Amino acid sequence: MNLSNAKNALKKYFGYDHFRPLQADIIQAIYDQKDALVLMPTGGGKSICFQIPAITMEGTCMVISPLISLMKDQVEALRANGIQAAFLNSSLTQEEQRKVEDDLFYGRLDLIYVSPEKMCSREFLPLLKKVNVNLFAIDEAHCISSWGHDFRPEYARLKFLKNEFPNVPTVALTATADRMTRKDIVEQLNLNNAQTFLSSFDRPNLSLEVRPGRKRIEQILEFIKKRPNQSGVIYCLSRKGTEDICAKLLKEGIESDYYHAGMSSQERSRVQEAFIKDEIPVITATVAFGMGIDKSNVRWIIHYNLPKNIESYYQEIGRAGRDGADADTLLFYSFQDVVKYRDFIEESELREIKLAKLDRMYQFATSVACRRKVLLNYFSENMRHNCGNCDVCKNPPTVIDGTVITQKALSAIARLNENVPQGMLIDVLRGSRRQEIIQNGFHNIKTYGAGSDVSWKEWMRYLEQMLNQGLIEIAYEDNNKVRLTEGSKAVLFDGDKVQLVKAETIEKRKDEAKKKADAATRKKSERQRVRDEMFEYLRKLRLEVARKKGVPPYIVFSDATLEEMAATKPKTMEEMNQVSGVGEAKLRQYGRLFIDAIQAFILEKKKEGISTKGGTHLESFQMYKRGMSIEQIAQERALAPMTIGGHLIKMYMEGEAVKLTDFVSKKEVQQVLELVKDLGEPFGIKEVYEGLNEEVPYYKIRFALAYRERMLKV
Ligand code: ADP
Ligand code: ZN
Repeated sequence: MNLSNAKNALKKYFGYDHFRPLQADIIQAIYDQKDALVLMPTGGGKSICFQIPAITMEGTCMVISPLISLMKDQVEALRANGIQAAFLNSSLTQEEQRKVEDDLFYGRLDLIYVSPEKMCSREFLPLLKKVNVNLFAIDEAHCISSWGHDFRPEYARLKFLKNEFPNVPTVALTATADRMTRKDIVEQLNLNNAQTFLSSFDRPNLSLEVRPGRKRIEQILEFIKKRPNQSGVIYCLSRKGTEDICAKLLKEGIESDYYHAGMSSQERSRVQEAFIKDEIPVITATVAFGMGIDKSNVRWIIHYNLPKNIESYYQEIGRAGRDGADADTLLFYSFQDVVKYRDFIEESELREIKLAKLDRMYQFATSVACRRKVLLNYFSENMRHNCGNCDVCKNPPTVIDGTVITQKALSAIARLNENVPQGMLIDVLRGSRRQEIIQNGFHNIKTYGAGSDVSWKEWMRYLEQMLNQGLIEIAYEDNNKVRLTEGSKAVLFDGDKVQLVKAETIEKRKDEAKKKADAATRKKSERQRVRDEMFEYLRKLRLEVARKKGVPPYIVFSDATLEEMAATKPKTMEEMNQVSGVGEAKLRQYGRLFIDAIQAFILEKKKEGISTKGGTHLESFQMYKRGMSIEQIAQERALAPMTIGGHLIKMYMEGEAVKLTDFVSKKEVQQVLELVKDLGEPFGIKEVYEGLNEEVPYYKIRFALAYRERMLKV
């Protein structure tokens, strides 16, 4: 068995052209009969690593998974791709089980999902011994470790596999990467010289945004209204929270439902099912929601409250955008959440560790560095560059020396005997003549009016940051009075410096973000609008097909696949087969239907006098989005790299997400810009080329000039 078999199967069954990083290496290790430990983030593409060997090798792959509720969907997804798969667990009747066992015995299955209980049961072993097992895949392998957050005792019994089947390779897969868990998995499963495959935990298609938890509902409504029909989850801390927020959304006409562990299991399944099938787009839920969900087209995640640690946060946002298409995440934080968690943690085991992790989470939320950098560094992945897809990168804040401002506030708090809430504190700092102030004699304290140069609103922002940095505290149990902390003493007496984000810039950033978003909507070309419309149209068709078949829509086609169809508008079966995510089975089943729909849509638009020409540059752009280099695209499309460069420049100029730094370095851009300044308008590209001693290739110069042009436009 070799990798070209694997690649053919990837295209034939899944419709994908390329393996993602590490997938091919893992498959090769399995072909070589080696054991492997695979660590990839949620949505990273773990399943392909055992599914491709399962399909291409003689015999049957046994997949052990603790998530019984997921098995049905996973098997359905495989069958939709024409793969012989089944599952065995307690949800099947005796008769159904017998039928599956028969299929297994007669070698009719490439892949079978089995619960750990079933796998370890005494009755199952004799059958297993008679089957030609080619691979054991232990999914969610962290469940074996009592260190992990999800220990399952029945997983610990899986040890027997290596004893009974010493020659069958085993691959253990998980998204939980810490060292203790890793070691535990290898030991407990008795893996032989297992090679560890640790993929990057970056999920570049997820945008990251963090906002202070003020007027959350208002912000959430605005967020959702911009994303009609998109599936999303709002995570809340409490069961009651899920119900309250859901009620508010419903009142505003947003179709939603709630989910928490206090509901009956029937109710929970109903909500989950409706979400998976795109019947209800928005779910407000506690973190209990999501574990048993494989839905690939979750387009956004909002955290209404701060998660308890970065691991949970990353796992939860990881449930968005598993299809690789763009997805948005938004985290609200408030110090109150931290206070609540601290209370929980006080009474629990491993208190110190939990508090430290909570602290890190809070630091992440209040940090002014690129969010993705902070996250990946937390997972020991050294990321140097800024990501360009988080709120900090998009709108870098201005940091100022806030020592004096902070000192003023702290000193006022001290002089007011830590006995007033925030509003009164600000009034005193600003020198208000309010009656209550005079009555209490607050106008006689030394810091009265010391902060009159800072507006009320700005003071709010600064105090919020002081709170975030632990420089003040709020006694929620005592009328929200502002109190001093250990940190305040360090600033007041030990000369500690304080950095604050300029309050004006916080407001300005919000305005700018809004302006940018508005401009982006306005800038959307006619063509893009038509493309969005076509996507909507195809989405509806997908929903219809899915309803008829009784399967979740994402199993018919992923959002990413529909997006590509809307962009490339295939006319023939041949062209449809080129679309990523359209394998042979789906081409046969749905190809014609979707081609006809696309052509009907185009015809309809033509009648309205609107051209839908997608154009060749869109095709290149789609390939670029899938991570291919200019050279790869050129090869695949049998065009010159220069031409592909031109396509990407066109997309870049239209405001699409083409990352310039993929093609040309900052230094080169700088060189071109400086030279052009000297040359003066008008200049020819040849002059630039020559002016730079023919050292910078033409296509790079084009990118640099495109950058200049876009800057001039903005
Ligand atoms: P995980 O199990 O790691 O959470 P999955 O195996 O469910 O992730 O894969 C996530 C998504 O990525 C799925 O929709 C899958 O079809 C898709 N995918 C996996 N490998 C590739 C690939 N090589 N090319 C394109 N899409 C892929
Ligand atoms: Zn960033």
